[in-house]
Amino acid sequence: MPSIQNYIDGEWTDSESGDTFETVNPAAPSEVVAAYQESTASDADAAVAAAADAETGWASVPAPERGAILKAAGDVLAERKSELTSQLTREEGKTHAEAGGEVQRAVDIFHYYAQKARDLGGTVKSSSGRRTNLYTREEPVGVTALITPWNYPIAIPAWKIAPALAAGNVVTIKPASLAPGPAVSIVEALDEAGIPDGAINLVTGPGKTVGNAVIGHGRVDAVSFTGSSAVGHQVYDLATDDSKRVQTEMGGKNPTIVADSADVEEAADIVASGAFGVTGQACTAGSRAIVYEDVYDEFVDAIVDRATAIEVGPGDEYDMGPQVSEDELESTLGYIDVAKEEGATLAAGGSAPDGGRFGDGYFVEPTVFSDVSVDHRLAQEEVFGPVLAVLEVDGFEDAIDVANNVNYGLSASILTHDHTEANCFVEETEAGVAKINEKTTGLELHVPFGGFKSSSSETWREQGDAGLDFYTIEKTVYEN
Ligand code: NAD
Repeated sequence: MPSIQNYIDGEWTDSESGDTFETVNPAAPSEVVAAYQESTASDADAAVAAAADAETGWASVPAPERGAILKAAGDVLAERKSELTSQLTREEGKTHAEAGGEVQRAVDIFHYYAQKARDLGGTVKSSSGRRTNLYTREEPVGVTALITPWNYPIAIPAWKIAPALAAGNVVTIKPASLAPGPAVSIVEALDEAGIPDGAINLVTGPGKTVGNAVIGHGRVDAVSFTGSSAVGHQVYDLATDDSKRVQTEMGGKNPTIVADSADVEEAADIVASGAFGVTGQACTAGSRAIVYEDVYDEFVDAIVDRATAIEVGPGDEYDMGPQVSEDELESTLGYIDVAKEEGATLAAGGSAPDGGRFGDGYFVEPTVFSDVSVDHRLAQEEVFGPVLAVLEVDGFEDAIDVANNVNYGLSASILTHDHTEANCFVEETEAGVAKINEKTTGLELHVPFGGFKSSSSETWREQGDAGLDFYTIEKTVYEN
């Protein structure tokens, strides 16, 4: 199998190591999907150096022209949608419907920031000097390092690359090794769209060496990382020690509060979709249901019905795909054991579907634990698999305390017909995204996204106009 190369200074090149690594289909792990470069720190250095050399050239391309290249790249992705959807399913494991939605999101993001490039500029201010023109200019931050996770392998690279390039920054991206293919496709689309050499560079390989070398490179001005909280905190320290601008978007343990005024059947649909969609492998997955005691038993019955009705398996005819890797599957099964040991009640799922009918594919059933206590690990730690913890509370104050009683704060939802309760929830929830009568997952691309506490570095947001702010710096001009 020919290996997929790094993209440095407009050239597809092999790593100096001469080594490659393979990705496999998580639904059928004996099937190799692709081979990529096992890059080294010196490949990372070469990529950042190429970006640094292209910095002035790309920044001086008029913003509408940069936007036109992004638009053309979005068009290429749109033309390749069906192929990219299959690629994403094969490498990361999402169902075809989920993968198709994600590819479309990447297309939309490129088109959105293509348009936004035209609006860049600054503001004119009145001056106390009689003949002074006083204005601000939005300028690119410079050389950026983007580190992305495997779980949205095309949408997340898109929502970092597109605003970075729109604002005139040069980019080196290091995608996650479990599913680098979709990020490579974005680079191919930009290449086809005519981006100048060096403006976008891509290196694959281990985070500890290649990711670290990209972030730590002296020419890098800004680092945008999405991934686990454990790695994100290290990345933050490394980048800030070096006075780089840094944004870290990390994990979640997202609550859905089910109030006694909610329609319980409807609530079960919403919670099931938030907890088990994309196999629970979303940073915004609704992994905790916090349910008022009056509707608790009825809700547990309803959510168990939903979980057991979900058909797990490979291909289009199933509702839920596999976990991305054996490690992720083992981690989820480990949490299932921990929850049992801690005394929670296994109400649905808990093992491989139909006793392992799909061979060695990384499948696990949608799993529901009831009687979970707030101090259980299942109520505190991100599982990143299809496991829902259901907690019982005696009313709103108790629910909001339990909801906020975690280190994370990404997305939170309340299902209620009580308007006052909904307003109090918006005010009191410690989360970057607050939802009312909606699942915790699902984001719109034109509004800010980010979390509180260990979910995010808080200073910067991604997506929408906020997504551009990270990649721009203001200069104030006095002209007399
Ligand atoms: P991860 O932290 O293991 O890896 C993320 C990226 O960092 C990968 O490219 C990896 O190679 C790289 N990396 C690893 N160690 C590194 C190091 N020492 N220095 C530099 N780079 C390093 O995360 P993952 O398993 O790929 O993704 C899952 C996690 O991402 C979950 O915790 C999930 O909640 C989180 N996530 C957050 C958001 C968000 O926007 N908040 C979105 C999606 C996923």
